Amino acid sequence: MSATVVGGVTITHPEREVFGEGGPTKGEVAAYYEAVAPWMLPELRDRPLSVVRCPQGATGQCFFQKHHADSLGPDVKAVTLEEKDGEAAEYIYVDDVRGVLELVQMNTLEFHPWGSRIDAPDQPDRLIFDLDPASGVAWKAVVAGAREIRERLAAHGLESFVRSSGGKGLHVVAPIRRGPSWVQVKAFCETLADELVADKPRAYIAEASKAKREGMIFIDWLRNTRGATSVTGWSLRARPGAPVAMPLHWDEIARLKTGGAFDLKRALKRAKGLEADPWEGVATLKQKLP
Ligand code: ATP
Ligand code: MN
Repeated sequence: MSATVVGGVTITHPEREVFGEGGPTKGEVAAYYEAVAPWMLPELRDRPLSVVRCPQGATGQCFFQKHHADSLGPDVKAVTLEEKDGEAAEYIYVDDVRGVLELVQMNTLEFHPWGSRIDAPDQPDRLIFDLDPASGVAWKAVVAGAREIRERLAAHGLESFVRSSGGKGLHVVAPIRRGPSWVQVKAFCETLADELVADKPRAYIAEASKAKREGMIFIDWLRNTRGATSVTGWSLRARPGAPVAMPLHWDEIARLKTGGAFDLKRALKRAKGLEADPWEGVATLKQKLP
């Protein structure tokens, strides 16, 4: 069996093309995560985590995994959390690059943390708005939507950050000082989304159940729920072309063409050339939910 060592972690079958023929290999995925770990870990570490594992590669069957197993690797850690039914279960978290790479060895491609940290899972430390444009919505409109949310958050004294999802849309994230419950945070986000929809009912929709979304952007505020996740910055997506969810400066989003504008290669180049985190301040801002 072929193997290589990346960041001290044995990666088997490094030559396997995990994004289809001619695409990045498992070894390149491991090298990617090792290279971007300094930028990725501040957001990812010490949060309950779901991973998307793709044993047959991104073109095969992938699955979300949230529960811990010893087989994931010695640096993939477990945190005991209460589930909806009141039972305790062990969830995954990582706090270093070895944990990330061991998950890659287990064919993880995507990393999806909670909006709270393991030491206080019931107290979210950020708000997230996920903008999901219907097919055919112009990128300009997605950019406008993200800016609109940014302005509305700013009106409440909340600075926010933006990332491309690696898919169709953008995520707007505002860090908050811990304290409010999930229910309070979700209510705040729902109100903000509803106000946006009330002002521009032809552009935005905030109800997950509504079928009629043609030409509109769904403002998904439901990520602000205990146990809900969103993809972390710098995570690959198990989609064609190996796109990456990318933390951006606000003035960068207009220059993209889609939420999938960054792929593995472009993200790697960005990681190596970056002088400062585009999300600098996200962990240190002291913002209070109104
Ligand atoms: P896009 O821009 O294409 O919408 P996205 O990452 O925002 O990309 P969504 O489908 O909008 O994808 O989902 C938002 C988030 O919800 C994801 O980032 C992921 O963390 C979580 N999610 C989506 N589908 C599942 C699922 N089947 N199981 C668990 N979590 C999921
Ligand atoms: Mn989305």
